[in-house]
Formats: sequence, structure tokens, C-alpha cells
Amino acid sequence: MNCKVNADISDSKMISEGIGLGTGEGVDTTGDKPVLSSENHNQRSEFSHHDRSARFLQRFYPGIDRSEWNNYRWQLRKRLTSLADFERIMQLSPDEANALTSGDRRFSVGITPYYASLIDPDNPNDAIRKTMIPATDELVDSPGEMADPLGEDSHSPVPGIVHRYPDRVLFLITDFCPVYCRYCTRSRLVGGNAEFDINMDQWRNAIDYIRATPSIRDVLISGGDPLVYPDDKLEWLLSSLKQVKHVEIIRIGTKIPFVMPQRITMELTEIFKRYHPIYMSVHVTHPREVTPESSQACERLADAGIPLGSQTVLLKGVNDSVEVIRLLVHELLKIRVKPYYLLQCDPIKGSSHFRTPIQTGIDIISQLRGFTSGYAVPHYIVDLPGGGGKVSLVPEHLTSRNGNELIFTNYEGKPGFSYFEP
Ligand code: SF4
Repeated sequence: MNCKVNADISDSKMISEGIGLGTGEGVDTTGDKPVLSSENHNQRSEFSHHDRSARFLQRFYPGIDRSEWNNYRWQLRKRLTSLADFERIMQLSPDEANALTSGDRRFSVGITPYYASLIDPDNPNDAIRKTMIPATDELVDSPGEMADPLGEDSHSPVPGIVHRYPDRVLFLITDFCPVYCRYCTRSRLVGGNAEFDINMDQWRNAIDYIRATPSIRDVLISGGDPLVYPDDKLEWLLSSLKQVKHVEIIRIGTKIPFVMPQRITMELTEIFKRYHPIYMSVHVTHPREVTPESSQACERLADAGIPLGSQTVLLKGVNDSVEVIRLLVHELLKIRVKPYYLLQCDPIKGSSHFRTPIQTGIDIISQLRGFTSGYAVPHYIVDLPGGGGKVSLVPEHLTSRNGNELIFTNYEGKPGFSYFEP
């Protein structure tokens, strides 16, 4: 089906309709794309302040106080999206400037001020910067690359739903993200790139499909980033899904704890507590994303009883070494996030500069397994192009078999360990 998305969180119908709930949300049309605004600044979202972000705030947003910086609506309104925005805070390389102004660029650009504060302004090879600032390499298509490598569009029975596995669905509720990752699997959909009008009717139709399909016991809410919606919309969605008897668990996929942690207010976590079991897959790429602020956001979610698992895309020149991944998984465990998936980068168009050989991922896992606790070792996953689904790749330790004797090599590479099967 046509699963194009052209939704944004300001969808006027969605706001004005108010889905029968209290509204109080307005639409702010400043910036590249309208975003939700509200004068409800009294949400309990006080966050600790990193020295780095304090310096960044003082330098680039003089006159803005911490309470504004800590308000996620301010972070959304002040997203950096243009050449001029980026030139104000960093020294762009000629390639970055070309990519930012190229008429051929196919994918939106956007970064919250908070996330921009994590970027080294003087180093074009900075890991986080490479994931956010476009390069002209993303204009080059390579063999095997596709707009929709996972075949999501062909597994979509109704707009907004991807039903690929028997007992669960992916529910895409928005095309909007606070930041746009250059390697995004759904770059064909997010950032207003296509024509898919996500509105309340679509949400209702998607929920109707879930209600009418008893095999669905697990709903993964994603997008775009679902947590861009205001509390009342999210609560309406969660309560609607909770009323479907066969839906046993709800999962939410989000990068917001690491790119706009200010969104994780105590009010939001109170809502989540009412709709358990809720699980959360948090998208994190690099250990430098684990800051006092993102740690606080993850701890709030964990304190609300939400099991947190990470999803990390393996990216060339960003995190494709055992040292970086080891540091990341250890930092995640400290903030109660279980390293869950290390994902091979999907072959979207213009992604070859990010994609590593498969062996790189296997080597990283083999250098973690045994050398650190099993809790720290993620599954290394390839999501098979064409909609084949996820497969997990593991280093090979079984080297031979002689009758009921199996011969293994251990995690250190020492051969000759026997196990006798009964
Ligand atoms: S946050 Fe997720 S959906 Fe949004 S651009 Fe990044 S990878 Fe894509």
C-alpha cells in the first residue's frame, strides 16, 4: 500500500479536533515547520545541567534562562534546520555546506539546541555530528540501496500500520522527529518527505485494525518519534490501545531521551505508569549521548517501571569499534538501559558511507562476549532487505562434532573445549 507519511505534530485537524480531550495546546508556526506550543511551562521537568550545555547556552542563547532550556517546547521551537543556523554554532566544512544547500538533498535536517551542544563545532569528523549534519555522500546511491529496504510499505494493511510478524505490529503515529538521523531507515517517510497524512482518522483506523486482529498481542508505537506528541494525545492513544483486550504489551520506540531529554517530564512518566506493561526501545548511537540530562531522563523512565532496551545502529566512522561500543554498553547499563540491539545499518539510498561490512559487527560482539557481563552484550541484528525480518548473527564457537562430542573454541579463541551431549 501507499505508506507515505506527511504528518507533523501540528496537524491542524489533530489539534483543533482535540480528540475529545482537553486541548490547551496551540500551534506555533515559527521555524521551518509548525510545532506544538503551550504556555504550560509548569511541568516538573527540572534537569541537572551539564557544564557543556551551560556553556553552550551562555554562548549561543544569551538571555535564555535554564527553565526555557529545560522546556521541551522551547527545544522544539529552536531546532537548528538551516545553513545559517548551523553556521552560527559551528565551523562547517565545504562538504557539509554543500550538502546543506544542495537542491538534491532528499531528507530533512533538524537538531535540537540540546543535541547540538553535544557536537564538536570544530571537527567535521565528530561522531555525533556525522549522524546529524548531511554530507554530499548521502546524495550517492549504491547497489542494493532502496528507499524502503525493509519492505514496510508492502506489509502495511492500513495506513500507519506495518504488520510483518504474526503477533505484533508497528504503529507509525508521526513523521516528525526532534532530530533527523542521516541513516534513518524511514528517511523516505519522516520529516515531511512524502504524502501520508497522519491525522486522527488514521489513528482511529489503525486502532480499528488492531482491534479487529486478535493475533496482535504487542504494539510497537514508533514514527518519527512518538514522544513529540503532547501528554493528552499520548494518553488518549495509550488508553485506546489498552482497551483492546488482546493487546498484552505496548512498546514505544524513541530517541527523545538522548536528543531532547527535557521531554521526559514527571507528568509524562505518571501517564506511562497508568498503562503498563509499557516497554521502551531507546535509540542511542554513541557514548557521548549519555549525559547527566539523558541519564536523568532514562532513570525517570526506569523509576516509572518501564524496562528500557537500547537500539544502536552500527555506523562507519561513528561507533564501529569495540572500544566505542564497549563504552556505550557500559554507560547504558549504569543508567538502567539494557543494551538490546546492535543493528546493521539498513541499505537506504545514500547510506554506503555509513554501512560497515557485516564482519565488523560480528567482530565487535566476539570482543564483548565473555570479556564483559552478558547483560552488556547486545544482539547483533541484520534486518533482511525485502521484508525478511530480523536475524541475529553470532560469532561461531562450535568448531567440530565427533559423535556426541562437540568441540568448541572459547571466547578468548582457545580451541579444544569438549562438551558431551547425552
Ligand atoms: S529519531 Fe528515529 S525515526 Fe527519527 S530520524 Fe532518527 S532514526 Fe529516523
